[in-house]
Amino acid sequence: MRLLRFRQGEHTAFGVCIDDSVRVVSWDPFDKFFGTEEEIPLGDVDILPPVIPTKIVGVGLNYKDHAEELKMEPPPEPVLFLKAPSTLIGSRGNVFFPPQTDRLEYEAELAVVISKEAKDVLRGKAREYVLGYTCALDMTARDLQSTDIQWTRSKSFDTFCPIGPWVETELDPGDLSIELRLNGEVKQSSRTSEMLTPIDELVSYISSVMTLFPGDVILTGTPAGVGQVSPGDHLEVEIEGIGTLEADIVPSGAYNIAF
Ligand code: MG
Repeated sequence: MRLLRFRQGEHTAFGVCIDDSVRVVSWDPFDKFFGTEEEIPLGDVDILPPVIPTKIVGVGLNYKDHAEELKMEPPPEPVLFLKAPSTLIGSRGNVFFPPQTDRLEYEAELAVVISKEAKDVLRGKAREYVLGYTCALDMTARDLQSTDIQWTRSKSFDTFCPIGPWVETELDPGDLSIELRLNGEVKQSSRTSEMLTPIDELVSYISSVMTLFPGDVILTGTPAGVGQVSPGDHLEVEIEGIGTLEADIVPSGAYNIAF
């Protein structure tokens, strides 16, 4: 099932995407669905971020090929950081290029969406706490990541986390192709089986540190091939079995958080 959130005019709702249309559903966060008969063409709606998390947990350096590209030793334990929930935008949204950076980079990632409160989850039970999977871009101001002691600023400018277009609930995430295209040209191409710490272990590890709530998002790291973007660029993240997330890079400007 493909779960999404969308806006049509003044109306915001959850929906289930079936082919090129959206079946409107009312969604009592994550446990009850009430189907309706209302169906809208997908092209007639603005796609919003599919979830509203209390936090977005990032994992640094979690692909073998990316660690090799950086000539870095894989970390002994997952490296965690947070992105502000105000970074979220939906598919086909605009990423604003902040005036404070000279080097804005893309990182294509598989995102895990949590379904229910999770604390000290055993690795073998991790899937019971996962609603599904979606595509994400962990946009990063690379120069600020180097100059700042930690990563809060470099990872958390508004619009720095495009996510979507929907959450795929029926998927085994263990070995999926993940690809990033910059203006149509493939820049990242890998498989989720290249992850150093697999998803079940990440859910377990993170939940031993902080309680995860329904809708919380884990960004599982990026493969090799990260690179720079400029205003006017178009990004696509395609993950096998999920679909394609799109984002445009635009000059800095007024942005109203709209989710
Ligand atoms: Mg990342």
